[in-house]
Amino acid sequence: MPAAEILLVRAPNPGPLTGSGTNTWIYGRGETVVIDPGPGDEAHLERVLEAARRLGRVTAVACTHHHLDHLEGAARLCQLAGAPLAVYFRRAGGPATLPLHDGDRLLVGSGELVAIHTPGHASDHLCFFDESTRTLFTGDHVLQGTTSLVVPPDGDMTAYLSSLEKTLRLRPLRLHPGHGESIADGEAAIRELIAHRLQREAQILRQLQRGPAGPDSLVPRLYASYPPEVMGMAAGTVLAHLLKLEREGRVRRLTGDGPAQFEVLE
Ligand SMILES: [Zn+2]
Repeated sequence: MPAAEILLVRAPNPGPLTGSGTNTWIYGRGETVVIDPGPGDEAHLERVLEAARRLGRVTAVACTHHHLDHLEGAARLCQLAGAPLAVYFRRAGGPATLPLHDGDRLLVGSGELVAIHTPGHASDHLCFFDESTRTLFTGDHVLQGTTSLVVPPDGDMTAYLSSLEKTLRLRPLRLHPGHGESIADGEAAIRELIAHRLQREAQILRQLQRGPAGPDSLVPRLYASYPPEVMGMAAGTVLAHLLKLEREGRVRRLTGDGPAQFEVLE
């Protein structure tokens, strides 16, 4: 049987966090699944439904994670398509949801997607993997053109790095991210991301050798070449690194009032 087809409909929600807009992916042949409906924009959802129906009946609307730029339009699209919402089981609720656990399979006409639990950017994050073509729909776990935000408490750097290792073990060829363009060499892109995060971690440790510091003082030093509007988000990612290092016994959080400060223990 011919392989499933993949279509992209990009939502009209460009911005600092969404790049050129949320990517809504449609996968299938005969039957289809919509991955990440995007914002609650009626015209966008209608375009998605029209494109999906060219490939076949929509059997599920899947979301990679609960952030609104991916999930907001889901309930409306489910209603328009008469299809259930497929999300990580801890988020699932109500009769019209399809709870997904790690390794669960979504059968879609001639294709099949495996749900891969990939916490880190968000605790409920799922990627969807087509084993036959080694194609991975990555949501915000791997992005093109920018790095994923990992902001505690729902974002977790320890989990993010182990999720990157987990997706690397799938040896994916092509990646279809939640924002940006598709990535041709999936393995290389994931290896690069792991290296980037470990490099950032090493930089943080080097800064702490000079004396105790926290996200507020580390961000201007580490992100000096970045535009000011990313600093607030960068502080979240630096905190996520510090909490990972604290868990590993490599830094200690100092007690006291005011912004969080950490000292190095190695
Ligand atoms: Zn997100």
